[in-house]
Amino acid sequence: MRTVDCDYLVIGSGLAGLMSAWYLKDHGQVVLATKREMLDSNSDRAQGGIACAIAENDSVDAHTADTLSTGGGLSDEGVVRSILASGPRHIRDLEGMGILFSKRSDHEEEYDLGREGGHSVRRVLHAGDITGHEVIKVLADRVTAHPNVKLRPNLMAIDLVTTGWLKVKGPNQCIGSYFLNRVNGEILAIRARHTVLATGGAGKVYLYTSNPDIATGDGIAMAWRAGLAIRNMEFVQFHPTCLYHPDAKSFLISEAVRGEGGVLINAAGQSFMEKYDSRGSLAPRDVVARAIDHEMKTRGDTCVYLDVRRHDEEFLRSRFPNLYRVCLKYGFDMAREPVPVVPAAHYLCGGVCTDQSGVTELAGLYAVGEVACTGLHGANRLASNSLLEALVCAGNAVESMLRQAEHNPGDSVIPIPDWQSGDAVNSDEAVVVEHNWNEVRTCMWDYVGIVRTNKRLERALRRINNLRCEIRQYYLDYLITPDVLELRNIAAVAELIARSAMMRRESRGLHYTLDYPHTDDAHFRHDTIIQDPPGGPVMDAV
Ligand SMILES: Cc1cc2nc3c(=O)[nH]c(=O)nc-3n(C[C@H](O)[C@H](O)[C@H](O)COP(=O)(O)OP(=O)(O)OC[C@H]3O[C@@H](n4cnc5c(N)ncnc54)[C@H](O)[C@@H]3O)c2cc1C
Repeated sequence: MRTVDCDYLVIGSGLAGLMSAWYLKDHGQVVLATKREMLDSNSDRAQGGIACAIAENDSVDAHTADTLSTGGGLSDEGVVRSILASGPRHIRDLEGMGILFSKRSDHEEEYDLGREGGHSVRRVLHAGDITGHEVIKVLADRVTAHPNVKLRPNLMAIDLVTTGWLKVKGPNQCIGSYFLNRVNGEILAIRARHTVLATGGAGKVYLYTSNPDIATGDGIAMAWRAGLAIRNMEFVQFHPTCLYHPDAKSFLISEAVRGEGGVLINAAGQSFMEKYDSRGSLAPRDVVARAIDHEMKTRGDTCVYLDVRRHDEEFLRSRFPNLYRVCLKYGFDMAREPVPVVPAAHYLCGGVCTDQSGVTELAGLYAVGEVACTGLHGANRLASNSLLEALVCAGNAVESMLRQAEHNPGDSVIPIPDWQSGDAVNSDEAVVVEHNWNEVRTCMWDYVGIVRTNKRLERALRRINNLRCEIRQYYLDYLITPDVLELRNIAAVAELIARSAMMRRESRGLHYTLDYPHTDDAHFRHDTIIQDPPGGPVMDAV
């Protein structure tokens, strides 16, 4: 087995991974490994933009107040202030790299700031309606052009390598990761003094999601298997408005459309959000998603509609060029008819326990971006705060790594043992993977979705436990493939979400259960932590 050495290993090529690599490039050799192609990430799909208190009528205090209010009492105010206050500096970094945010057509020196649910003012910087793509495209070019950064696409991280697992004396630390090359099937190790997990979220745990195929929660599952604490996994954000069309796989209608006056109506053409919240269609996402779920279930409808006909075609084409084009492709002219929408799993507030610098409890390991739970979002994420978090925390993590390197410049090189496949053979039962993959996702959608109950959660957990036993056996019997690794990871994350949801016997933020419909500050105003004994690269945590 080959072992590749570097100073810094970054796993993932979304905003968190690319920014980490960018800030690290002047300080040593960086390997940027990503499981598919460079642009395959949630970041590339982001439409709305990046929230940042940059306007004259705005302030870090106001942004903090909105974030805390959305976070349902679980955001860490110190973390919130620190991340939000660093926003403008990091936005300038992006602009310095050549990223152009949209400016107002009437005042070209001013940003055209978008308004989204839960924000008290317009504060979302955007680049048309394909902000993520514009940002990632420029970043990817800049990062990969640098001689110190080696891009390794199609390398899928399997599991972290820790000195604890290797039984090396001294404090436990991460020394790299095993990888599977998706193209030629080679298994190799990458060894580094510092590893940054930037593997993103886990939307694919659910049947319906706005996330692309890469979002299988790999980093969270890997960290859990390595014995790290995983926090607040019950808080899954369902985006209220994904386009409802059989061929429009996971296409999101940005919240910015409601910000521009789009109104949700039911199949009878009635505006219904006022029944649920005084803010109407601009209520926070969890409120809107639950209202849509309720409206659909009580009326027996398969979708609701987003009506933005108050704007003419010219405005819509210029404000939402991509949305307008894609909706038209599927037969919906936004200027002339309401667009059918449904909620879908969108963002995971929980993740690997870190501080605002991505520092985990395992020396040598950082977690940045959606894979991490820093304390910014608490029980619910304010729209467009996640790109900001990925951006700022990447910078913070690198500063922290460099400080640490100053104190501990020369770690000894610990050999990483060859990957053991045991008696595993090529699988002749790939259908099992496909079947279990669908079962996990359907089970999570039906029983651990927008509205939960004790009974549904218990049922889900029983099924997921059975599936995990089966998957573990499959993992040991057959040579690994990317599909098996992802299945193993979504099943692990499914268990973490269901267990966390069972631990929270109240409703708060994104977690809503019919058995405990009220918030219970006396008993549950705290994070949910799951931490199990470490397994190892060939073992599942139990
Ligand atoms: C449709 C959509 C629209 C959104 N719009 C907004 C918005 O307007 N504003 C906002 O703030 N947020 C938005 N979000 C959320 C935001 O995009 C994400 O939270 C953010 O991009 C996460 O960045 P990241 O770098 O942590 O993860 P990602 O961008 O998802 O990157 C993860 C990377 O890790 C790689 N990876 C995963 N597993 C492995 C593995 N095992 N081995 C190697 N590589 C691996 C992936 O291939 C990918 O390159 C949106 C999300 C979606 C899906």
